[in-house]
Amino acid sequence: MRAHVHAFIVKIGKVARFAFFSAMFVALIALSFGADWSLWSTPFAQLTMGDLTWIMLKPVLILAIGYGWLLWAFAEKKTYEPWAALAVLILVVMSFSGCSGSSSPSAPTPPVPQPQPITLTVHVTSTGSGSPLAGVAGELGGATAVTNGDGGLQLQTAPGATQRLNLTGSGIVPRSVMVAVGATREVSVDAIAAGSVDLLFYRQLVRNGFEQPANLQPLRRWTRNPSVYIRTVDEAGHQLDAPTLATVEQTIRATVPIWTNGQFRVEAVERGTETREGTDGWLTVKWSTTVAGCGQAQVGQEGGFIEFQSQTRSCRFGTSTVAPTVIRHELGHAMGFWHTDADLMKGGNWTNGNLEPSARERAAAAIAYARPVGNADPDQDPASVVTLAPMRVQ
Ligand SMILES: [Zn+2]
Repeated sequence: MRAHVHAFIVKIGKVARFAFFSAMFVALIALSFGADWSLWSTPFAQLTMGDLTWIMLKPVLILAIGYGWLLWAFAEKKTYEPWAALAVLILVVMSFSGCSGSSSPSAPTPPVPQPQPITLTVHVTSTGSGSPLAGVAGELGGATAVTNGDGGLQLQTAPGATQRLNLTGSGIVPRSVMVAVGATREVSVDAIAAGSVDLLFYRQLVRNGFEQPANLQPLRRWTRNPSVYIRTVDEAGHQLDAPTLATVEQTIRATVPIWTNGQFRVEAVERGTETREGTDGWLTVKWSTTVAGCGQAQVGQEGGFIEFQSQTRSCRFGTSTVAPTVIRHELGHAMGFWHTDADLMKGGNWTNGNLEPSARERAAAAIAYARPVGNADPDQDPASVVTLAPMRVQ
């Protein structure tokens, strides 16, 4: 009877011991299910002490207890406990290595799915003529391609807000524009075909490259029809004569479309003794007895002014106090252009009082008025000017 009782107590002890170890492993496995697996890929410097404890102590604890149980079970030469312990240990190790099968919730968090790349189809044409440009290399976020005979190329990139598209090649002046890359789309970009424009002259007229070649200016120009306010008195209060005021008005009306490649015309003309300086959309013509030369003007400035000399006899032409050449020259400044080494925008004196913008001045001005304000040398649009995707609503 005592033997039976003793055997029973021993049996109870073994069962209790097995139950204790099993419960411990179940608890530790359960804990490992709730582990934050992203901690393993977190840079060490960003881990807190709690993270480190969680990562490092738990597996050590589990493996130590498991190893101890295994040793004990084999030493006791039990028939089932060694194998049970081994099975539990393997399960624990597998749960840590993340290959415990699809049914286990301990599998690591699946990686965030990468967004599908978008395709940008680019049509490259020649500024002005609009003809397709072949052999132009395009680059967008590291992806590259070259235009085919139709001036087309395709580039793939990760979807986002905007990205800079760079176009290069021996056939063009390097071009750079911002494009919206939210979804697969097409975009048309024009580039200056090599040889289609005198680039040196273009830099003089549009970037102040003649007077300050080391400090090329970003593009300044009007973005709407200018309204013109013509002051009828000079700064000393003397009235300007009617032929002069008529010549100024007619010449400005005729020349704004020339300087803007037909994009803009004079919206309205007002005459008076006030000013519209500082008022957006307006260009003020005023008169001075002291200004040097025949005139001066602000470059490409809305709300800016043109100031003519009202006293110097050499500035006269016919019945007008100021020659049409001077009016067209100062208007050229006002529309965004600088001095050149020749033609109408050459600074200084003119023998011809009725000079018009030359062919190359018109060609360079046409490119300028096909570019956004802020376009920089050689042909780079500012980051703030984005070629957006067309949208349609009903
Ligand atoms: Zn000038």
